[in-house]
Amino acid sequence: MLNRVDLRGKSVAELGGQWLAGVLPRAELDVAAAVEAVRPVCEDVRERGAVAVREHTLRFDKVDRPSTRVPREALTSALAGLDPEVVAALKEAIRRTRAVHAAQVPSEPVTKVAEGSTVTERYVPVGRAGVYVPGGLVAYPSSVVMNVVPAQVAGVSEIAVASPPQAGYGGQPHPAVLAACELLGITEVHAAGGAQAIAMLGYGTEDCAPADTITGPGNVYVAAAKRLLAGKAGTDAEAGPTEIAIIADASAEPRFVAADLIAQAEHDSLAACLLITTDQDLADRVDLELAAQLETARHAGRIREALGDQSASVLVDDLDAALLVADAWAPEHLEIQATGAEGLAARVRNAGAIFVGSYAPVSLGDYLAGSNHVLPTGGTARYNGGLSVLTFLRGIHVVTCTQEALAEVAPHIDALGGAEDLASHVAAVRIRAGEAAQAGPKAQSAEPALPLREDLRGEEPYGAPQVQARARLNTNENPYPPSAALVREIAEAAATEAAGLNRYPDRDAVALRADLAAYLGHGLTTDRVWAANGSNEVIQQLFQAFGGPGRSALGFEPSYSMHPIIARTTSTDWIGVPRGKDFGVDEGLALSSIRKYEPDLLFLTSPNNPTGTSVPLDVIEQVAAAAPGMVVIDEAYSEFAREPGMTALSLLDRFPRLVVVRTMSKAFALAGGRVGYLASSKGVVDALQIVRLPYHLSSLTQTVARAALARADELQASVATLRASRDELVAWLRDAGFKVADSDTNFILFGEFDDRHATWQALLGLGVLVREVGPPGWLRVTVGTPEENDLFKAALTEAALTEAALTEAALTEVGEA
Ligand code: PMP
Repeated sequence: MLNRVDLRGKSVAELGGQWLAGVLPRAELDVAAAVEAVRPVCEDVRERGAVAVREHTLRFDKVDRPSTRVPREALTSALAGLDPEVVAALKEAIRRTRAVHAAQVPSEPVTKVAEGSTVTERYVPVGRAGVYVPGGLVAYPSSVVMNVVPAQVAGVSEIAVASPPQAGYGGQPHPAVLAACELLGITEVHAAGGAQAIAMLGYGTEDCAPADTITGPGNVYVAAAKRLLAGKAGTDAEAGPTEIAIIADASAEPRFVAADLIAQAEHDSLAACLLITTDQDLADRVDLELAAQLETARHAGRIREALGDQSASVLVDDLDAALLVADAWAPEHLEIQATGAEGLAARVRNAGAIFVGSYAPVSLGDYLAGSNHVLPTGGTARYNGGLSVLTFLRGIHVVTCTQEALAEVAPHIDALGGAEDLASHVAAVRIRAGEAAQAGPKAQSAEPALPLREDLRGEEPYGAPQVQARARLNTNENPYPPSAALVREIAEAAATEAAGLNRYPDRDAVALRADLAAYLGHGLTTDRVWAANGSNEVIQQLFQAFGGPGRSALGFEPSYSMHPIIARTTSTDWIGVPRGKDFGVDEGLALSSIRKYEPDLLFLTSPNNPTGTSVPLDVIEQVAAAAPGMVVIDEAYSEFAREPGMTALSLLDRFPRLVVVRTMSKAFALAGGRVGYLASSKGVVDALQIVRLPYHLSSLTQTVARAALARADELQASVATLRASRDELVAWLRDAGFKVADSDTNFILFGEFDDRHATWQALLGLGVLVREVGPPGWLRVTVGTPEENDLFKAALTEAALTEAALTEAALTEVGEA
């Protein structure tokens, strides 16, 4: 049945790879010829954008669409209509593929090449990926999974999928493709196919922004269009007809071998199938099996064609020769069904993927092994690997060097720059290194060049890692953006203010403070309320007015990290007193600490960040009564408390040195607006006016805050939703066996992990960014939208399962990015 190539008795090693590749069959794909065919289409899309895509779609796909963009409802209804068994299978495929690809994320090694000279390898995802999914008679939702998952794991923040419109499905792409997109959380899908789709993804149109990297299988025209984009966007390897080689000996089961050859041939009449065997009897029996299985095969026509010219069984003397033949052909898929399969697999040099033993068929890899099925064809496995997380990442070298280290290496740069006759290269180093030599011993030491304050030297700036992720649950933001109505009102108010931007704003922000006083209630008046750019600035002003050199501030830790940081920048001594059981503040310890240290400022964060726990009002009252200085209750998260009304505002009238700090960043979902405020006595507000910079709150900030305050009721509704989601998530975490601190905030502290960094990183690999903060072994997650919370739950479940599988190497350093 299969053609025979008999290499027995020949020295395969001596014949060499090139000769072997010449005698082994394979269908050729003439991409170069197709390039000329698709060039006019791609040029047209580049020049005329969406109009051209529309015309070519009508011409090729017989569908007329005013826009390529597929509405969200089409995605959700496609998923709702998909066979539940297919949904379950896709979910499992996604889970496995994610786990395998999460382990691919490289660490970010820092190499110290010499004292004072380092190179760090950072891996940064591309900004936008375009994924092409072919349509036509068959649709491959598995291709959506194989392309989208690596991009998501790499941290690509924008992913657009394009797939041909189908006249039979109302001009939308195949519903199975849409359903897979929906399952993966892809919201940007375009109905466009062929060369015009690739050009759309590469050049961009009015409907679709240009992508940085484009991946996905397709026919020869798709491959040709990708080739035309060289220099404009990254692409994955050109996919040719699919292929399989099977190395088998007498121990192989002919039924399995035949079934796998047929399965590969089923893809395409151009598919190539090679059986490489040491056993002529096996080749004969496989032929018989092929004939028998073809009787009942569904796509017998194209299978028969594929098993014709470009397929063969190759007879060799031994398994060493079989390996040489396989390496020379460099197959997309290589199966090894022979004695010692694992050892043989370890010796293979050229293959897209290797399937080891009788029970790892290519069909497993096509769908559910977790490995990627986008693999190099046509012999390109000699120099290409399959699609992976790396397809969507770029390595960036970050080079640091001190003056001394540069001086050290300067003679070598002299020598090489001289040899290449690049004198200015040498000069650019000498101009610096010379300074080091002239400045004498002081400059040679590790002293910084700037006269920075002694106590600030070597300090790191505040910063949660800003990493791309599908669910960013790391900075306690409110996940619900302002409503459309509020956005409009903000824009209108800002437009009115814009007309007067030649003038300074109201220096005392009186109208805003009046609105804030009204919001707070408790009989507060404008002169007892103060506002600034975020509660961080309010806290800084408190330190400037009441702290400073020779003064001290005390806080109960773990707590908000900015309190000690602002203490340092204002040269105030910081005293950290540990929190007690369940992160509470022990009354006795608090009172004895107050007596012992007599702090000028005392900070009590309630509800607390990062623990989420509250301090009972009677403890706050006792602290306020005992403290000799200012008592600041940081209530940034007050609105999220389980027991509403548990606020120190009610104590303000009795304690003139008591201050309650609040923010609009969380409950008002206005973190980008930068408005924080405090309520206290009039004297405190007067004191802060002395230290504040004039016009510190811009007129735009003031007006935006007032617009949000006018919709306080609406915003409080999202707070209620978040409270409920929080309680649900706390219960889920406890059910799942985690330790969880009681939470009165929009975040949850949970643990305990032996290696919290490993879990942090595994979650990030699965698209969820949480915060590595608080006591060792604990992590903090911000409550997100229901979708984000589900993603977090799924990722945490999976991280727990896959943690053991992650290598030591993959666990290092990325977290510091
Ligand atoms: N206080 C606490 C306890 C916080 O957690 C935060 C922010 N995470 C702030 C104050 C500062 O918030 P903002 O400056 O946005 O008002």
